[in-house]
Amino acid sequence: MRFSKMLIPTIKEAPSDAMLPSHIYLLRAGFIQSVGSGLYNFLPLGKKSLDRVRQVVKDELDRAGCLEVDLAFVTPAELWRESGRFEKYGKELLRFKDRKDNEFVLGPTHEEMMVNLVRQSVKSYKQLPLHLYQIKTKFRDEIRPRFGLMRGREFLMEDGYSFHKDEADMKREFANMEVTYSKIFERLGLDFRVVEADSGAIGGSGSKEFMVLADSGEDTIVVCDNCEYGANIEAAVRKPKEAPQYNKDEELEMSEGEFHTPNVKTIQELSEFFHINPHHLIKAVAKKALYDESKEKIAIFFIRGNDELEETKACNSVGANELIDISEDELEKAGLVAGFIGFENLPEAVIYRIDSELKGETNLIMGANRKDYHCIGVSIPSKEELFADLVAVQEGDICTKCGGKLHYTKGIEVGHIFQLGTRYSKPLGATFLDENGKSQPFVMGTYGIGVSRLLAAIIEQHHDDKGCIWTKESSPFDIEIIVSNISKDAEREAGEELYNTLSSKGFNVLLDDRKERFGFKMKDFELIGIPLAIVIGKKLADKKVELIKRESLEREDIDLDNIVSKIEEIF
Ligand code: ATP
Ligand code: MG
Repeated sequence: MRFSKMLIPTIKEAPSDAMLPSHIYLLRAGFIQSVGSGLYNFLPLGKKSLDRVRQVVKDELDRAGCLEVDLAFVTPAELWRESGRFEKYGKELLRFKDRKDNEFVLGPTHEEMMVNLVRQSVKSYKQLPLHLYQIKTKFRDEIRPRFGLMRGREFLMEDGYSFHKDEADMKREFANMEVTYSKIFERLGLDFRVVEADSGAIGGSGSKEFMVLADSGEDTIVVCDNCEYGANIEAAVRKPKEAPQYNKDEELEMSEGEFHTPNVKTIQELSEFFHINPHHLIKAVAKKALYDESKEKIAIFFIRGNDELEETKACNSVGANELIDISEDELEKAGLVAGFIGFENLPEAVIYRIDSELKGETNLIMGANRKDYHCIGVSIPSKEELFADLVAVQEGDICTKCGGKLHYTKGIEVGHIFQLGTRYSKPLGATFLDENGKSQPFVMGTYGIGVSRLLAAIIEQHHDDKGCIWTKESSPFDIEIIVSNISKDAEREAGEELYNTLSSKGFNVLLDDRKERFGFKMKDFELIGIPLAIVIGKKLADKKVELIKRESLEREDIDLDNIVSKIEEIF
């Protein structure tokens, strides 16, 4: 393709709201164009990269035995009512009506649609297992669309759904997809890590995320410095914290009862007031838990004074759709006193959970549910259903697998695999006849890759202060030929000839044949980030051209006669 015939509107400055390198460079290099919050046009270069990434995804999935389909984007709300998600999905789901007043949603994910497809066409265990996938636009009315392609409202996703006769076969496919997704991200040249992820109400290790390691990532991941353990902070676990060491004579011993603690509200104030390590204090974190049909409850989470609440864990522990902040006024109305909340004598309507690490503990201090009073000598009740893992693992905590130290790193979630079970097949009545002629719900797995987000993730990991550095299988072109001075016949002709030869050998070549200064063309090459450039310039007189690697910007003189074989060698 010729640069002079392309539409590559490179710009000097990105809009001021673009903060991340990927956002800035994809806009500046003319890959994408913003049309509204979280909405982008893909220009020719962007479309080429997107198609190449999509091809890698498709290639590996097809090889792994998955079948590509293409489902309607506009989906009947009725299916979403059947699964119970029409309400639950919240404001991210775009709902609308057609001229006959029928309700629809724009698909943010396609579990319902896929189950509906399969329940109509698969009847017997003999047709299983089955893995269907599509690579298709999704729409989510994200609360904070940002960082360009990283968190759009309209984005391209690969979403796969597998159907099995039992758990064991679903787990086999889950493992198969872990390998397959890993191959995809390796081919795209990404440095990534597979981590344990939040599985919502299902729990356990039923879900894994693929995290591209980058400082700009929105997810905090916890990794062990000694073993392979890695988990999203939403799902990370640690060895229970040990109590601080004391000398014999200062050992904790308290009588039980209420203690006047005027105006002592925060953990720090309480710790100073009693001269006690926050490890022995109970922190109460109050939230509003939101449920279906606009129901809400006040939920209180009790954790150690030196811990922080992990909201996703907390939300799962009370089976809510979402947790939101609560004001002191609302607490007061419910009969609670901010700063003095404890789990004894709580109002009826309030639900609460206690962090599992507090199980069996005694001699603690917590709020007395009365202004200016705390209870001392508190023991944790032994009701099993009150306990849940509620805390965020902190840096320096101990790994449960190997005893090593845990630390934080940042990641961009590019893929997610999930053992779904019968969560959708049951409510939607999707069943098959097993070997004994008995009707069973399909056991499912679900899998997703953020295909357009991958473009951003690749650039987050591969860029310098001049622009993009595409990896081999994500670059819009394999090679760029830069003709230094297009008005010189010899240079132009040599460029054309090389362009034709390389193209006929199957390389995807961009020929910069514009009537522009060489420096200007070089700047565009650096900004756009095609991995290799061949410069045809003054050295042509000595039958030489220059080969430039975009990553290192190293330059090497090559004999014109050898350049094609050199390129073949590199690929
Ligand atoms: P996130 O936590 O980032 O919102 P998610 O858990 O909502 O992601 P999934 O529902 O698992 O994401 O979707 C599968 C994949 O789609 C994600 O791993 C991610 O790569 C991609 N994705 C999700 N939301 C967006 C978005 N708003 N823009 C671009 N890609 C997205
Ligand atoms: Mg999301």
